[in-house]
Amino acid sequence: MHRAKKVIILSHCILNQNTVVKPLARAKGAYNRIVKNILDLDIGIHQLPCPEYLFLGLDRKPMSKKDYDSYTYRKICKEIASSSIKVIKEYINQQYEIIGIVGINCSPTCSIRGERGILMEELLKLLDDEKIKLRFFEIPTHYTEAGENQEILSEFHDFLSMRNKENSK
Ligand code: SF4
Repeated sequence: MHRAKKVIILSHCILNQNTVVKPLARAKGAYNRIVKNILDLDIGIHQLPCPEYLFLGLDRKPMSKKDYDSYTYRKICKEIASSSIKVIKEYINQQYEIIGIVGINCSPTCSIRGERGILMEELLKLLDDEKIKLRFFEIPTHYTEAGENQEILSEFHDFLSMRNKENSK
């Protein structure tokens, strides 16, 4: 089968809300409609690991970026960032198109705009070092799988379709 050679990088919980801090899950499993948009365009998915889950497991409490920002937690995020850069570089070297990175707005770990999360800080630093420019999209805090969300889904569809245009950090 001919490959479309298009890949998107997703924060872990877009595909698996089971890793989210308990009271904050916004879907039973995945953000199905976000994911469906991706699948419908024949885009492959690289799922980043969830650093908070790796660090504190499922029974963790909601915490701020300041709470998380310890040597050990940053080390976990640096390791994930470093292995992710290897994945991204290999795709680019093999002429795959990286559609972009999708983070979670206001997450102490995966937020991109506003107060940047710790994983995204480490990942974006490495992208800068490698002079790799990617586009970004964030799932807003009001997205829920059961909600209306038409505007967000339409923006996301544009993000997926309008490749090579703006939206880089
Ligand atoms: S750390 Fe990132 S992937 Fe994990 S639950 Fe929080 S926002 Fe989602």
